[in-house]
Amino acid sequence: MKTIQDINFEGKKALIRVDFNVPLDENFTVTDITRIEAAKPTIIKILEDGGAVVLMSHLGRPKGTEDKFSLKHIVDKVSEIIGVDVKFASDCVGEIAEKAASELQMGEVLLLENLRFYAEETKGDVAFAEKLSKLGDIYVNDAFGTAHRAHASTTIVAQFFSQNKCFGSLLAQEIISLKKILEEGEKPVLAILGGAKVSSKITVIENILDKVDHLIIGGGMSFTFIKAQGGKIGNSICEDDKQELALDILKQAEAKGVQIHIPVDVIAADNFSNDANTQICDINDIPDGWEGVDAGPKSREIFDAIVKKSKTILWNGPLGVFEMENFAGGTIALGNSIAEATKNGTFSLVGGGDSVAAVKQFGFADKVSYVSTGGGAMLESLEGKTLPGIEAILK
Ligand code: AMP
Repeated sequence: MKTIQDINFEGKKALIRVDFNVPLDENFTVTDITRIEAAKPTIIKILEDGGAVVLMSHLGRPKGTEDKFSLKHIVDKVSEIIGVDVKFASDCVGEIAEKAASELQMGEVLLLENLRFYAEETKGDVAFAEKLSKLGDIYVNDAFGTAHRAHASTTIVAQFFSQNKCFGSLLAQEIISLKKILEEGEKPVLAILGGAKVSSKITVIENILDKVDHLIIGGGMSFTFIKAQGGKIGNSICEDDKQELALDILKQAEAKGVQIHIPVDVIAADNFSNDANTQICDINDIPDGWEGVDAGPKSREIFDAIVKKSKTILWNGPLGVFEMENFAGGTIALGNSIAEATKNGTFSLVGGGDSVAAVKQFGFADKVSYVSTGGGAMLESLEGKTLPGIEAILK
């Protein structure tokens, strides 16, 4: 695996695909700088080598050129974070971009306009990718968030760099962390899958059964399993058409020697709101009119014990409706257990949209081993797929 550490960038222009798809408020102020900070180590290494940096990214889902999706809005923030005055090219290909890239001096940084102002980007257009390739000597992919897309800047452009391409340090870290779970995890390996729906995670569950010793199935997903086994789930969310599949997953797990753990009790609410009345119920006996919204106290204790005896942990998806303060307790308890296990030497990876939001919101982000930056890319990796953006560099 070739990374930026294997290359001396002195006198070279690096064309880096970063993920600067950051949230902006109505005044175009960046409200979460995580993604810009995540790209910093790669940019700094290249500058310190004596190279120059051309940054390319998408922002949002523009239909053609739309000012509100212009990357010019983030130039100041990127400059502040990198500590270098970043130049801006008001186009990502063609004369303007080529002139700006050719005038760029070593030690300087150029940010190109939003790639998705061109439909060719998401179509993976080869001619467009070739135009991008003119803007640098070495192609660096540092965007895990888009590595599952065969877009021009994430995948197709790599073919124009023959040997002159590599992974940035962020993408390399993502690959190494996933490998620690999927290939070389120290046993016992535990996966915790939560969230709303079984259907969105079936392929992950099936793939992960070959890799783990324990699997915790929590959150809204668990009720499909409970109902399939004959439990009474009241008004809890459930995918009735996935009950057969749930039973099949339990059978597969048994055959593979994987221990599955589903909550034994829940916090049930009499409606889906933070100020609902609540009671603690056996998960198999939730009264009509009540729905399970969080893991109960016994479940939290059981999960705590499993987490603490695991040496490798993957966490994807919350254990309850964590967006509502009163139903966040199970997710917070799990975060605390994982933080403690991590302190004692366990490797822990948190990935997938909502669990990442949860670890950030509750302050666990620096208490786990690694927080992934890619939602869809993470899920596809866990499904066992090879991501096109990663393959293009390895080729
Ligand atoms: P996912 O995107 O599949 O990871 O699902 C995350 C969502 O699952 C969050 O918005 C949670 O509020 C939701 N969720 C977790 N547990 C439950 C539950 N018991 N009932 C309803 N929604 C839940």
